[in-house]
Amino acid sequence: MEATARALLDQAEQAVAACADDLKALEALRVRYLGRKGELTALFKTLGRVDPDRRPAVGKVLNEVKARLETILDEAMQRAKERAAREGDLLDITAPGRRPLRGRLHPITQTAMEIATIFNRLGFETVEGPEVELDYYNFEALNIPKDHPARDMQDTFYVSEDVVLRTHTSPLQVRTMERKKPPIKIIAPGKAYRCDSDVTHSPMFHQVEGLMVGQGVSFGDLKGVLTVFVHQMFGPHVGLRFRPSFFPFTEPSAEVDIQCVICKGAGCRVCSHSGWLEILGSGMVDPEVFKMVGYDPDEVSGFAFGMGIERIAMLKYGINDLRLFFENDLRFLRQF
Ligand SMILES: [Zn+2]
Repeated sequence: MEATARALLDQAEQAVAACADDLKALEALRVRYLGRKGELTALFKTLGRVDPDRRPAVGKVLNEVKARLETILDEAMQRAKERAAREGDLLDITAPGRRPLRGRLHPITQTAMEIATIFNRLGFETVEGPEVELDYYNFEALNIPKDHPARDMQDTFYVSEDVVLRTHTSPLQVRTMERKKPPIKIIAPGKAYRCDSDVTHSPMFHQVEGLMVGQGVSFGDLKGVLTVFVHQMFGPHVGLRFRPSFFPFTEPSAEVDIQCVICKGAGCRVCSHSGWLEILGSGMVDPEVFKMVGYDPDEVSGFAFGMGIERIAMLKYGINDLRLFFENDLRFLRQF
């Protein structure tokens, strides 16, 4: 019986070597020798009929054969698995390589940079300021006192009674004029916050503020600068118009419309069939604002303007839902 077991082991070793790294064949061999109805298992079942004196010795040999068989099968299967994994990576030499993922600038950032670049070329310096702002800079110094009805226009996030998340980038006007003497030409892109959320409003949005102050700065300068901006941003043939408006910190004030970029002025759903789209607010700096920062309104004059970057990007790229900018859908973002 020991001889039978040893012969079985020799045979099994040869079989394992013969089927190399074939996982299925190895599994079949395991079943053939060690399975419930396997050949070695069958030998174990006959152990009870062996002479009791010889039984321990025979049992020892059978156990050794079993352990040896298990070892060579395990090792062969392990080799087979490793080789399969290796070949899975190496085999298809025609497969295209994996491109490293490349980051890119968000369309809002791209638009903000494009706007700033146009104004930088006109001599405007880019400045930045805090998003958590004092009530004073966000409202009061801009001619919007506590009881002013204009505060109703803005749904403000208050941090405390005197501290807000800035509702516009206009505080930069005041902060700049406080630390500098005219002439001033600045452009201030950044985030602003209002309690508002729907298809056309986001609680966080981006604005660009502009300010030019000096001796003899006129409404003609305002029109000239903004006309150059519109033509560089949207194309030299896009028409624009200035429409009277009201802002607490400018007087007179004007909103700027451009010819509808979708229908070229013929009238469509986007422009409510008017042929025009509003893109920014502007005006001559109110003398009260100059007084707050210690400028003499009889000595200097200036103009200011502000625009929503999302709106400019939507018009430039023909995007119809503001929320697309903030959902971080790569299919959307990769188009820019
Ligand atoms: Zn239109």
